[in-house]
Amino acid sequence: MSSEVYFLDLREPIDVMRGMDNLMEHFISCFKPKSKIAVKVHIGERGNYTYIRPFFVRKIVDFLKSFEINPFITETVALYPTGLRRNELEILETAKYNGFTEEGLGCPIIVADGPDGENGLDIDVESPYMKSIRIAKAIIDADGVLLVSHVKGHIFSGFGGAIKNLAMGCTTRSSKRLQHAAHGIILRYDMCNGCGKCLEACVFSAISMENGKPIREESRCMYCGNCIFSCDRNAITIFENGKERFQESLAHAAAGVIKGLKNKPMVFMNFLIDITQMCDCATPAGNIITQNIGILASRDPVAIDEASLDLIDASPIFPNLNISPPDPLGKINGTNSRIQIIELEKLGMGSRRYKLIKI
Ligand code: SF4
Ligand code: SF4
Repeated sequence: MSSEVYFLDLREPIDVMRGMDNLMEHFISCFKPKSKIAVKVHIGERGNYTYIRPFFVRKIVDFLKSFEINPFITETVALYPTGLRRNELEILETAKYNGFTEEGLGCPIIVADGPDGENGLDIDVESPYMKSIRIAKAIIDADGVLLVSHVKGHIFSGFGGAIKNLAMGCTTRSSKRLQHAAHGIILRYDMCNGCGKCLEACVFSAISMENGKPIREESRCMYCGNCIFSCDRNAITIFENGKERFQESLAHAAAGVIKGLKNKPMVFMNFLIDITQMCDCATPAGNIITQNIGILASRDPVAIDEASLDLIDASPIFPNLNISPPDPLGKINGTNSRIQIIELEKLGMGSRRYKLIKI
């Protein structure tokens, strides 16, 4: 059976405000009046400038409110220690800095997993990588979820869309750690010169030096990747199939979030605008790879991510990047981006077969 994916085509000169109304009309009936709906966004790291513009989110909020629905904007605490989204206070400050304010959006902004990014509900998952995940409290407590995802590249998963926003975006820090642990961390002593830069880079004190060589203590490691990026000799890396394992773990966690939300309504909106090589945590996120394509909406996270990649495949990639379809984001980031989609479909959480309905 194929799923419906609605498409607002922004390659044509259209009134985007009216277009968004037309797009959202196709799913609004699944949310009940008076219900409390979590609108999950990525507010962008401080210094990133290609995240979804707040005005689109305001438009979504206004539309929900016009049907007497009570939305709130929500985000979760980041895993990595280098940015300014490491706890609730920093998220709220960065949200303001990046233009997401309660006044501007017209609804509350809630950090879904609380002050230190651990507040949530544990749900068992079927995965070789983890036994359970913890879904962020405000998300699990909502009456429904509207997942607003920016489609862009990601260094470990090739691309990020709805599945990544479900898996990483809706879970707590310890669950983000478990998902990243799937890609592993390897120290290659044949490449290491003992410079100690990784020791300085690890704010979790998971690295120590013994006889001039770094040792990583697994139980302290948050899998933030900071040591990998600090080593200019490529002596710290992930498993050979780490990016593929990571995508599988994303799919397993995404399935857990869907399972945890039981039969609450979930809607997915993917923004194919400012499609960058890297994610909204990156500062900056690399080149934009193609023209703005549009906005998709669906009830199926598998179908909407598949449709997003198909639309990118059909879009001319900017020639300076010297990369061609299929899967340009996967090629840039060294993996097949569709693994996460295929895995979530295998788990019965959606269909890669879809009908694209242009509105
Ligand atoms: S930064 Fe790289 S080269 Fe330097 S000690 Fe760490 S692993 Fe070795
Ligand atoms: S060892 Fe590396 S990946 Fe692990 S916490 Fe330290 S910097 Fe992060």
